[in-house]
Amino acid sequence: MAEQTKIVVIGGGPSGMMAAIVAARRGACVTVVERMPKVGKKLLATGAGQCNLCNTKPTQGNYHGTDTTFMLPALAAFGAETALTFFDALGIEVREVESGRVFPITGQASNVLDVLRYEMSRLGIREVTGLKIQKICPSDTGFVSYTAEGESFESDKVIVATGGTSSPNLGSNGGGHKMAKALGHTVTQIFPSRVPLELDAWFLKRLKGVKVRAASVESHIDGQLIRKSSGDLLFTDYGISGPPVLNVSRAIGQFERTDHAMEVSIDLFPEETMESMATLIRKRIGHGPFKPLEVFLIGLLHKRLIPVLMKEAGQEDLGRTCGSLDDAEVAAVVTILKQWRVKCKGTRSWMNSQVTAGGVDVSEVDAKTMESNVIPGLYFVGELLDIDGDCGGYNLQWAWSSGYAAGTHSTG
Ligand SMILES: Cc1cc2nc3c(=O)[nH]c(=O)nc-3n(C[C@H](O)[C@H](O)[C@H](O)COP(=O)(O)OP(=O)(O)OC[C@H]3O[C@@H](n4cnc5c(N)ncnc54)[C@H](O)[C@@H]3O)c2cc1C
Repeated sequence: MAEQTKIVVIGGGPSGMMAAIVAARRGACVTVVERMPKVGKKLLATGAGQCNLCNTKPTQGNYHGTDTTFMLPALAAFGAETALTFFDALGIEVREVESGRVFPITGQASNVLDVLRYEMSRLGIREVTGLKIQKICPSDTGFVSYTAEGESFESDKVIVATGGTSSPNLGSNGGGHKMAKALGHTVTQIFPSRVPLELDAWFLKRLKGVKVRAASVESHIDGQLIRKSSGDLLFTDYGISGPPVLNVSRAIGQFERTDHAMEVSIDLFPEETMESMATLIRKRIGHGPFKPLEVFLIGLLHKRLIPVLMKEAGQEDLGRTCGSLDDAEVAAVVTILKQWRVKCKGTRSWMNSQVTAGGVDVSEVDAKTMESNVIPGLYFVGELLDIDGDCGGYNLQWAWSSGYAAGTHSTG
C-alpha cells in the first residue's frame, strides 16, 4: 500500500482549512497548526459576523498585486460556483445580494466555521492550537516545522497559510512573511488595505458619526484619479470609513510615507451631474432666496454637514442669504457637493485593516499548484501571497481557490 503523504498546514484560517480538507479528502494525513486558541478567528469576523463567503462575479479586475494573472488558474479550477457547491455539500445554504455578494442564509459566519471544523474532524485532520510555528526547515525526508513553544512537526509537505499582517488580534501577525524570507522567498512591499482613511482636515470632530448614504469616493495621488467606489460613507473623528473608503484605501496605503500628495474626492450626490446639481441648488435658492446659508440645504444634506460644506465652499458668513450668492459662489457650492477634495494623512493602522496588500512574491510560486519554485514541497496560500481583493467576498474566494489548489497538488 502506498504511504500516506504527511502534510502540515501552518495556520487554521480559511485558506489553511480549505487546503487541509482537500488534501485529507485525497488521502493525506493532515495536521493543522494554529497559533491562536481556536482556528478561524478571522473568519468569524468576516462580513461583520455575517461572512461574505464569496462573489459570483469574480474578475481579475477585482484583485490587486504585482501580477494579478497569477490568480487566474486557481480561480478557474475552483471559482465561485465550485466554492458554492463545496459549501452546499457541507450544509451552508446561501443568499446572493447585490453585486454578486454571497452570504450564508443564516447571516452567521460561525456556521461556516462550524461546518469546516466538522468536516476536518470527520476526515481525521489533527487540529493543534495555541502553538506558533516560527521556523520551517527542509530536511532529507521533507520538512520539520518548529514552534516557538519548543515542539516540532515532521512532514513530507508544508502548506503555509498564515495570512498577512492585518487585524493581528485575529491571529495573522506577519510571521508568515518572516518564515518565507528565511526560506529564500522575496516578500514584496506590504501595506494595509481595505482600511479606513485618516484625513488632514479641520472639521473631523464636527462630523464624527455623520453617515451619507450611497456616496462616491475617489483616491487621488498627485492629482491623478486612482480608484473610485460607491456606497455608504461614515465620518469619524480621524477621517472616513465605510465600504467605498475601504475599497479606495489601497492606493493611499501604497503611497503613504512618500512625498506624493494623497487626496480623496467625495461626491455626495453621485447620481447627479454637475449640471443637474447646479439646477437643484438654483431651484432651492429660487424657493427661498431669503433663507440663510446655514438653512437652505436642510432637507438635502445631513444637518451637521451644512456649515462644514459652506465653509469648504468659501462661505464664512452663514447668516448671509442664499439668494445673495453670485454664479461663481453657486458653482463653488456645487463643486463641493460633487467633488469635495480633502487631503489625506494616510491609512489607519494594521489593527484596523481587513486585508494585507503585498506579500510572498508570486513570481516564485507556481500559479496552478501554489508550490514554491524555490523549495519543492513547500506551498503558500491565501492572503500571505501578493494578491488582495476588493470588498465583496473576493478575499475569501481567493483563500478558498488557493487553498484548494495547494490541497489538491500537494497530494498529487
Ligand atoms: C474584520 C474583517 C472582515 C472581513 N470580511 C471579509 C468578508 O466578508 N469577505 C471576504 O472575502 N473577506 C473578508 N475579510 C478578509 C478575509 O477574512 C481574509 O482575506 C481571509 O481570512 C484570509 O484567509 P487566510 O487563511 O489567508 O488568512 P487568515 O484568515 O488571516 O488566517 C491565518 C491563520 O494563520 C494563523 N497563524 C498566523 N501565523 C501563524 C504561525 N506562525 N503559526 C501558526 N498559526 C499561525 C493565524 O492565527 C490565522 O488563524 C475580512 C477581514 C477582516 C479582518
